[in-house]
Amino acid sequence: MTLQTLKRVADDLRSLLADLDPDRLSGTDAARLLDGFAEIEKLASGGKLLAARRVESSNVWRRNGHRSAAAHVAEATGTALGPAINSLNTARQLQSLPTAEEAVRSGRLSEAQAREIAEAARLRPEAEGELVEAASRQPLSVLKVRCRRIKATGRDQLQAYVAVHRARYLRNWTESDGGVRFDAKLTPDEGARLIAVVRAETDRLAATARRTGSDEPRRALSADALVRLADRGSRPDPHPDREGPRSDEAPSAMVHVRVDHAALIRGSVEVGEVCEIPGVGPIPVEVARRLAVDSILSVLLTEGVDVATVAHAGRTIPASIKRALCERDPICVVPGCGEREGLEIDHVKPFAQGGLASLANLARLCHWHHYLKTHHRCTLEHTDDGWRWTLPDGARSSPDAFAGSG
Ligand SMILES: [Zn+2]
Repeated sequence: MTLQTLKRVADDLRSLLADLDPDRLSGTDAARLLDGFAEIEKLASGGKLLAARRVESSNVWRRNGHRSAAAHVAEATGTALGPAINSLNTARQLQSLPTAEEAVRSGRLSEAQAREIAEAARLRPEAEGELVEAASRQPLSVLKVRCRRIKATGRDQLQAYVAVHRARYLRNWTESDGGVRFDAKLTPDEGARLIAVVRAETDRLAATARRTGSDEPRRALSADALVRLADRGSRPDPHPDREGPRSDEAPSAMVHVRVDHAALIRGSVEVGEVCEIPGVGPIPVEVARRLAVDSILSVLLTEGVDVATVAHAGRTIPASIKRALCERDPICVVPGCGEREGLEIDHVKPFAQGGLASLANLARLCHWHHYLKTHHRCTLEHTDDGWRWTLPDGARSSPDAFAGSG
């Protein structure tokens, strides 16, 4: 019965796809179609998880001559072994998470969302409902940050940190086209430091690229930045770049640590508190303490100074406000965007109209949303429910109607 239904659905989909001519669709219809297929994909991956769970527990994989349940799943789904192992882990964890499993069964969670939630809720079951709810409103990147934060309070963080430190590596290999690839694993603080230095150099290259009208993507500029930093490290730079980053950009070579004052004093994080590098993840309080004496780090005591009251009547933004802003807006503030690379600081009320360089009047936007606001009459306002982004025709953005598409 189930198999018959499944076959009928698959046949329907197959004939729908056979007749589909996407070029004849309007943009709006194409967007609806994308939503529809995304829903089907979520339902299908939910079905795969449930079926894979039973493949494992029934031992049918053994009878079919596979070395493991994961090998069976990998072959059946055309994926590598690693993702298949992850799928089985998620499927198993969902068994004890009724709210999350219900959301998977009704096609509300993608497998990636389900995995993040399952791993966090396994350690803190009371967070399950809240995370499932958050998944429907927030991009995956934001959900991941939340889940990591929850995981950080649910286990011995220092032990986990030491394990990552022991497992650190940097590998390189050459692909068949001759390109050299890298893969590395670093502790969050060392990773954040490398990211900050590469990002600052990328910002400099991006500023030059904008001036010269080059349309090289940021990922390419980041690769150039890494090579330039390596060059600079191995010999003195004969042509030091005297032009710094644009004045409204954050001092991005600084690694920021966000830690609750109480946690810093106590030496451990309790529920509701954070000790993390925004954009990277939680770190043990011991590591934050060590970083606090390093000149490249600035520790923000979220309980100490009320930075929201600091205002500055000028076009330039003081470093203290930039730091507070980086901490407050780790991603583009437009609801549903989630971009964290190359953010630009926007005066919500323009400086020319008397807008102050105060925390209340500043927000970090991605390049695209900054451009829309500056040149296409999109508006941004701060409400009690957070930021509200309005398109020129008055339409409000929400995670459902992603404003980035137009
Ligand atoms: Zn954005």
